[in-house]
Amino acid sequence: MTAAGRASLVDVPVPVPGPGQVRLEVLAAGICHSDLSVLDSGAGAGWALPFTLGHEICGRVDMAGPGVDGWREGDQVVVHAPYGCGHCDRCASGRTNYCDDRRTLPAAGVGLGVDGGMARFVVVGQERLVAAPGLDPVVAATLTDAGLTSYHAVAECARNLSSPAAVAVVIGVGGLGHVAIGILRALTKARVVAVDTRDDALALGAECGAEAGARPDAARSEVDRLSAGRGADVVLDFVGAQNSIDLSVSLLRTAGELVLVGSGGGTLAVAKPGPQPSGAVIRMPFWGSRPELVEVVDLARSGRLTVRSTKFALDEAGRAFDELRQGRIVGRAVLVPGS
Ligand code: NAD
Ligand code: ZN
Ligand code: ZN
Repeated sequence: MTAAGRASLVDVPVPVPGPGQVRLEVLAAGICHSDLSVLDSGAGAGWALPFTLGHEICGRVDMAGPGVDGWREGDQVVVHAPYGCGHCDRCASGRTNYCDDRRTLPAAGVGLGVDGGMARFVVVGQERLVAAPGLDPVVAATLTDAGLTSYHAVAECARNLSSPAAVAVVIGVGGLGHVAIGILRALTKARVVAVDTRDDALALGAECGAEAGARPDAARSEVDRLSAGRGADVVLDFVGAQNSIDLSVSLLRTAGELVLVGSGGGTLAVAKPGPQPSGAVIRMPFWGSRPELVEVVDLARSGRLTVRSTKFALDEAGRAFDELRQGRIVGRAVLVPGS
């Protein structure tokens, strides 16, 4: 990212790992809808330009800096990318995604303010690495955000989905949403309704384990059908636009849970009494912890997740960004720098 709205493929020096750091040869780097938001908004406050995008990374250990312990050249790993201060209680337990200092840090994560994975090489701290042996690197990369964010979001609301009669709705079956459906099936007993504006996304939702699929205007009748008219126990909104937030609220049953993941610019008005049913719970999860990344890698290695990807070479990144923006990617677009 060289300027607001501009991403260009340029040559930079091969980075050298410092103390406690590891250089990875990047095998795959996913493209997140957040990359488009970062590009469009001119990056976060205080982020220095230029930097290399790419916060969803799988790589092979290529060189270890001084003091690196436990990682060997050739190890296949994924990167826990969210930045934290590194020394508070939350950071110490791998929950850098909820460090109190995040807003004042010079970056939000690897590839979000500092150089990330849309490159042949990336340097990261060894504490960010999670072993991912035996996985397709393209799938492994997607686990670090599409997978991890979905996993954390589902883990937080799973208590409400422990009955086989429970209904969960996933709005937005894109990069994150399609992985979330598989995670819901693996971690909960809920019946899943997928909602998207695109038929090919709904078809992918069915492949991932959704029992029903609907365009937004038909979502209510599908939820009513599966819930005997009660409404949804949990709605996960992976869009976050005004219309998806309004739809999410309208689908909730009494004491239902709204999990707002997408950052599509919509506003949620909370009032009492108001549009939310009584007892409603609202969550706004952000990314996930390092221990959760270990768990989602294990889940993928057990073969229980469907991840759909479309591969692009590094010099096709511009086209991949355009296709994501136009809503033409089904599943996740992933850059493969070595191809
Ligand atoms: P994506 O573009 O891959 O998927 C979005 C999907 O939503 C697409 O299938 C699209 O057809 C569908 N959609 C768009 N508008 C819709 C609407 N009004 N109703 C129903 N479906 C609609 O995006 P992604 O990479 O999966 O990211 C999803 C959102 O999550 C983005 O806003 C992104 O910035 C955000 N995000 C949040 C976190 C977090 O930690 N909270 C992490 C990563 C991404
Ligand atoms: Zn992301
Ligand atoms: Zn911290």
